[in-house]
Amino acid sequence: MYLTDYHIHTSFSSDSEAPMEEMILAAIDKGLDEIAFTDHVDFDDRYTFTDYNLYIPYLEDLKHKYKNDITIKLGIEVGLENTKADKVNTITAAFPFDFIIGSSHSVKCYDLYFDQKEFFSTRTKQEAYNTYFEEMFKNIQTCTDFCVYGHLNFVSRYGMYSDNSVNYMEFSPVIDAVLKELINRGKGIEINTSGYRYGINDCYPDIEILKRYKALGGEIVTIGSDAHYAKDVADHIGAAYDMLNIAGFKYITIFKARKPQFIRL
Ligand SMILES: [Zn+2]
Ligand SMILES: [Zn+2]
Repeated sequence: MYLTDYHIHTSFSSDSEAPMEEMILAAIDKGLDEIAFTDHVDFDDRYTFTDYNLYIPYLEDLKHKYKNDITIKLGIEVGLENTKADKVNTITAAFPFDFIIGSSHSVKCYDLYFDQKEFFSTRTKQEAYNTYFEEMFKNIQTCTDFCVYGHLNFVSRYGMYSDNSVNYMEFSPVIDAVLKELINRGKGIEINTSGYRYGINDCYPDIEILKRYKALGGEIVTIGSDAHYAKDVADHIGAAYDMLNIAGFKYITIFKARKPQFIRL
């Protein structure tokens, strides 16, 4: 099986101190065939901004150094915000990324991590989660240059309710709208395994949403650990590959120059 981890952060992200080379060595050690580095760019002053004019040559040197051991792709995880679509589209167009994860880290300019209290304490779960997916729908329509939507039900990491999970049946109208819009635009989703490190014992999204993406015609799925430490590279990717099989997918997706390539499972 072709093993990939398409969601890895390094010290270039403001929330990681992991040297890029250490992440590569961990990936080789865990037997991965291919990885994509996806450091953060979010348009919020509370996050630092990566200088890609330094980043790209640095990554290219390491890619060359380890070319016989592992395939390394240049990626980015960009925070999608429909009110800042110009900024998002400018950064994604400016550099030759192989792979772009678009993620909702912020909803209506409330950063889900920094502004958790302000966003959730004034809304019921129904209101907050519906708003999260409605804004995601608008993000897909306005921030058009991305490959997969990141950790689709990430809102459940920060919700402040007795049950924070995103039950597909409970939010099916907005989730279906999001999935259909992604599929119509040729976009994929990722299976993000970080839920196992955040106490939900599952991936983002869960199998129900993955199955729904497939049932609606979706074919593009990447797998990512969202590692911010070397120990987390490839964490629980076996569970993600199992999910792909259970949901009936025949392929894992990789990207080159933002074009999907399909490798049989
Ligand atoms: Zn993220
Ligand atoms: Zn991430």
